Amino acid sequence: MNDLWVKQCGISHTGSFKDLGMTVLVSQVNRLRKMNKPLVGVGCASTGDTSAALSAYCAAAGIPSIVFLPANKISMAQLVQPIANGAFVLSMDTDFDGCMKLIREITSELPIYLANSLNSLRLEGQKTAAIEILQQFDWEVPDWVIIPGGNLGNIYAFYKGFKMCEELGLVNRIPRLVCAQSANANPLYLHYKSGWKNFTPVKATTTFASAIQIGDPVSIDRAVYALKNSDGIVEEATEEEMMDEMAAADSTGMFVCPHTGVALVALKKLREKGVIGKSDRTVVVSTAHGLKFTQAKIVYHSKEIEGMSCKFANPPVEVAAEYGAVMDVLTKYLSKVS
Ligand SMILES: *Cc1c(COP(=O)(O)O)cnc(C)c1O
Repeated sequence: MNDLWVKQCGISHTGSFKDLGMTVLVSQVNRLRKMNKPLVGVGCASTGDTSAALSAYCAAAGIPSIVFLPANKISMAQLVQPIANGAFVLSMDTDFDGCMKLIREITSELPIYLANSLNSLRLEGQKTAAIEILQQFDWEVPDWVIIPGGNLGNIYAFYKGFKMCEELGLVNRIPRLVCAQSANANPLYLHYKSGWKNFTPVKATTTFASAIQIGDPVSIDRAVYALKNSDGIVEEATEEEMMDEMAAADSTGMFVCPHTGVALVALKKLREKGVIGKSDRTVVVSTAHGLKFTQAKIVYHSKEIEGMSCKFANPPVEVAAEYGAVMDVLTKYLSKVS
């Protein structure tokens, strides 16, 4: 492909695009508290990145944050972020959907402001990424934008950003949007395949793309609206496809998260089917920093994933600290790459 771009949304303060929306939301809560509104704290259910962003901005503003996390379903780096920022962290023996259901019930009873992306302040912040893409192309509209989706707020936020620019007359069309899901958490994909018939939530199973391990997305209706109005498509990626694409991307000098791998699989599939043309300008949205997901990369490169061939694994070579031994392995390596 000759016009392919990656929009890096994960090189931000807490390492994911969730920062874009959370600055807006926490600023607003800060204002409400200064107006003496009875808000004691801010809470969210999270697959990791939302809680990291929430706790960082709340800590900076001196607002208590409360996060509901599914135990053992987020990365170590993601877990340590809210802990370090002083959030009140509740680790629960359920999945994201279970955490989400509970926090909705709890926040309706307690003076805790709910910070999940059903809150439109988040989307207002997140939509700036779409505006930024247009600005970076000098207001030329890309043909495609591919976004990994879980709870499905972000796909709608992108749609909103593009649509706003169209309505303002900054551009005269919007890109076609592609939502990419993990095959282990694919309710939107199934809904799309059924011709948008009846939506049925699924039970999401374990995926390396843990931030999108969601079976009953809160923003399903908004996502469907965004896709229908952008001539959009939904694709899915198996674990092996995602991990291979992530590794392939890394081998070009990037260091992408598994979710970005999911988006790259969607790109590959749509290119192979000829849906995305060779010279179409295409933007893949990278949603988090790869350093949050080192464990996934480590098990891939050590070929420790059951049932996966890990074809791009690049494990370190163990060699004796001796001149001869090092010469041997290096000569072999050099003849392979030359
Ligand atoms: C939150 C998140 C997503 C999914 O965004 P939704 O708005 O929930 O669809 C994708 N990738 C990463 C890294 C995330 O943190």
